[in-house]
Amino acid sequence: MTISSYDEVRFSAISENLKVIRENIGNSAVSAGRKPEDIRLMAVTKTVDVKYINYSIDCCGVDLIGENKVQEYLSKKEFLPLEKIEKHLIGHLQTNKVKKIVGEVDMIQSADSPRLCKAISDESGKICKICPVLLEVNIGGEDSKTGFDEGAFVDSLEEISQLPNITVKGLMTIPPISDVTAVLERYFDKMNEYFHTLKEKNLKNFDLQILSMGMSGDYELAVKHGSNLVRIGSSIYGARNYNI
Ligand SMILES: *Cc1c(COP(=O)(O)O)cnc(C)c1O
Repeated sequence: MTISSYDEVRFSAISENLKVIRENIGNSAVSAGRKPEDIRLMAVTKTVDVKYINYSIDCCGVDLIGENKVQEYLSKKEFLPLEKIEKHLIGHLQTNKVKKIVGEVDMIQSADSPRLCKAISDESGKICKICPVLLEVNIGGEDSKTGFDEGAFVDSLEEISQLPNITVKGLMTIPPISDVTAVLERYFDKMNEYFHTLKEKNLKNFDLQILSMGMSGDYELAVKHGSNLVRIGSSIYGARNYNI
């Protein structure tokens, strides 16, 4: 691989960004009386060229990546050091693509309907595996977003707990965009409450450990309100260019 001076600049920006983000996560954790090491950092790599992803893995200690699209992940994976990382799907998954991704990633964070959970369980069963998933909750009840609506979520839990080839490892959310801290805090607190209530239910096939919330714009707040996995893209790799 030839490295241009443009790449050098990008590499050092990625390294610096990760340093700052880790510091910020640590500070938020401590200010909330939590341990920095209890919070995992996911690098969201959608639209990012593999050379930058690999730099962040090989030189900056990234050990968890998230991709949104099945096809994009599959076309990148042969160029990634897969043995060094955990890979999660975080984007909306269509039922007809389930077959392609089950067995390829370590977790599906975007399980957003009982039908999709069943499809994931069925496909995992065919390859004799159990697929870890997070249930995605549409906590703001927005029409434009995927994820369980709150009512559907509560009503579906029993049915989901009967699926033999998934384990529900936790919850994921993308709250509505807001500049108002108090509004975001309310959504994060609500998710945190769901997470703890659900934990106490001890449902079959549920092993709740992960509360995935917080992105570039709001991860510090999310950590203060219970998140233990933040998903960060543009603050690490720079603004996304969807045209490449
Ligand atoms: C793109 C994306 C992120 C990261 O977004 P940034 O604002 O770039 O940090 C996190 N989670 C999901 C589900 C995403 O699609």
